[in-house]
This record gives sequence, structure tokens and C-alpha cells, in this order.
Amino acid sequence: MTNDTPFDSNVYYEDDADTAQILEKTVAVLGYGSQGHAHAQNLAESGVDVVVGLREDSSSRSAAEADGLDVETPAEAVAQADVVSVLVPDTVQPDVYENAIEPNLDPGDTLQFAHGFNIHYNQIRPPEDVDVTMVAPKSPGHLVRRNYENDEGTPGLLAVYQDTTGTATEEALAYAATIGCARAGVVETTFREETETDLFGEQAVLCGGVTSLVKQAYETLVEAGYSPEMAYFECLNELKLIVDLMYEGGLGEMWDSVSDTAEYGGLTQGDVVVDEHARENMEQVLEQVQDGTFAREWIAENQAGRPSYTQLREAERTHEIEQVGEELRALFAWAEEEADEETEAVT
Ligand code: NAD
Ligand code: MG
Ligand code: MG
Ligand code: MG
Ligand code: MG
Repeated sequence: MTNDTPFDSNVYYEDDADTAQILEKTVAVLGYGSQGHAHAQNLAESGVDVVVGLREDSSSRSAAEADGLDVETPAEAVAQADVVSVLVPDTVQPDVYENAIEPNLDPGDTLQFAHGFNIHYNQIRPPEDVDVTMVAPKSPGHLVRRNYENDEGTPGLLAVYQDTTGTATEEALAYAATIGCARAGVVETTFREETETDLFGEQAVLCGGVTSLVKQAYETLVEAGYSPEMAYFECLNELKLIVDLMYEGGLGEMWDSVSDTAEYGGLTQGDVVVDEHARENMEQVLEQVQDGTFAREWIAENQAGRPSYTQLREAERTHEIEQVGEELRALFAWAEEEADEETEAVT
């Protein structure tokens, strides 16, 4: 364990991991999507005994088999395993848990997650005699896989919700090491912290905040008579350049790279646009994450067959900025390669 850093959290690296804690075990990876395919292949190449759990009719079966992995039904995979890595979509996890996982768990097995939602909001209630852990790479699965293949790491989070064996942390760290996360650093957190910050971040900034900012700025320009093309470039396209600078060197590198005029205007007008009302709204969004209001709403929405979600998706898809963007991107070859690589969500 290493904490000679300015951080509150423990940060673990490869030297802290005893990979025997996972190399001696059989890991069932349920799901072969973004995270599943990366975890399964990285674990297997690190020498872990891996069995992929997929439904008989799953379209992912042929991919997992082509990658040289053993594929069983989720129930059979769990029955063979010591560690069950739950990498099916969060919304189907409770159902998979009830039907395939719970009946096949042995005392001392581990339930391993990549996101805390179902445990934190009690949608999955594990028995007391299993370990419950989380290793969450902070990156989409294709990067977890690519970084591993290039002998590079992907930063990740580690949390232990339930430690019945006394070795839950060591085993989770070994899992993190064998999927490549410990090469870059594994930050210790809790299921609560990971779940609440993940939901808040995607709602307030990454997915919600930023898209609303883009759409409302676009509409403001177009309604004032400016051309949709100019509005698209200024309010959406250039965002990537700004985010790349922030990603590389924080806000400072971005401010250093833009013109003094852009910097002065940004520093004076940013808080005018995202003002104290926005801040109060953010606090309300956070409260609804913390008190479970958002989780209850999302669970009910799924149970009802996603009526509002479907409408919201359609409205977003048909927003004018999407049509303008599609036409403009078709004129410029630069967007294509990048779009292919970056379609998977990080959240
Ligand atoms: P995904 O949607 O990419 O893949 C889901 C997989 O589960 C697919 O192989 C699908 O065939 C399979 N599946 C779907 N329904 C199933 C069912 N009923 N029974 C069995 N298999 C079924 O999922 P993902 O994005 O990899 O997410 C998996 C977990 O990882 C989630 O907990 C998510 O929050 C977490 N996570 C995802 C990312 C990311 O970048 N995608 C990052 C960090 C954590
Ligand atoms: Mg078992
Ligand atoms: Mg400009
Ligand atoms: Mg996230
Ligand atoms: Mg998320």
C-alpha cells in the first residue's frame, strides 16, 4: 500500500499486488461487452483461469470463442468459479443475479463489480458468506484491452463492500493487477463514493451538463441569426480541442494555450453563464443521487419499459445540431477515424 502522495486515498501499484491471489482461482466473466471482453482477455493472458458466461442466444458468444475463451451459460460459469465478475449492463444485473448467480454461489466466493450502483442501492443483496469487491477501470473497455496489449496501464478504482474471507482487498488488487490497472495506479474508494461521484459526474458535467451547455449555446447563436455551421463549430466542434488541453495539463494548460482575449472573456463570463443558480441545481442533483431519488426513478423507468427514456433519446437525436453536425462532419475527413475509436462511453 502506498500513500506518500498528496491524496487522501490509498493508491496501489503492481508491487503492492500478490497476483497469486487471483492466479490460483477461476474467474467467471459475465458479459462480453465493453468491459467484459477486456477483463476476460487480460485476465486470461495474465494466466488466470477464465470462463465467460453468456446466454445461449447471445450475439457475443462467437466473439468470445474466436478470442479463444471458454464460454458457458452464466449459471454454469458461476458454478465453476471462485470469483464472479459481473460485467453485464447495470440494468440487467439484478435479474442475472437472481437467476444465474445467487443459486450458484459458494461460501467464500467473490462477487466482483465494475460499478457500485446495484450494491449501493440494494438492487443486489449478496449473502453474508461471500466477498463483494469492485475493480473499476476509469476507461472504456477497448482502452483497457489496448493498454494491456501495449504493456501500458489503465488507472482504476478498488473498493471492498464485504470481506468475509479476510482477503478481499488482496484478491481485488490481484484482479486489478492482472487486468493491467495496477501498472497505472489503483485508487482505493468505497461503493458509495464510486457510485455517487460517478452518477453526479455524468449528470452534472460529462453527459448532462456539457450537452445542455452545447445545445443552449448553439440555440442562442442560431436564434440570434448566426449560421448553424458557425454555431456548430464554435459550440461543439472546438470543445474537443479545449478538453484535450485540459486532459493533458489541467485548466492551466488550456488557459495558456488560448488567446488572452479568450482567457479574459472566459474568466469573466464563465460564472455569469454557470451562475449560483446552476450551482444550486447541481447541489439538488447531488442530493437526489445521495438520497436514492435518482436511482428509484431510473429503476422504475426500466420496469415500465423506458417510456420517458425513449422519448428523450428521440428528442436528442433529432435536435437540429445533430443534423448540422452530420452534414458538416461528412465534409471533413478528420472526424471519421477519431469517431470510430471513441464511440464507447467512459462513464
Ligand atoms: P456492455 O453493455 O458493453 O456489455 C454488456 C454485455 O452483457 C454484452 O456482452 C451483452 O451481450 C451481455 N448481456 C446483456 N444482457 C445480458 C443478460 N440478460 N444476460 C447475460 N448477458 C447479458 O456493458 P459495459 O459497458 O461493459 O458495462 C459492464 C459493467 O461495467 C457495468 O457495471 C458498467 O457500469 C461498468 N463500467 C463500464 C464502463 C464502460 O466504459 N463501458 C466503464 C467502467 C465501468
Ligand atoms: Mg464457486
Ligand atoms: Mg474561437
Ligand atoms: Mg464514470
Ligand atoms: Mg456511470
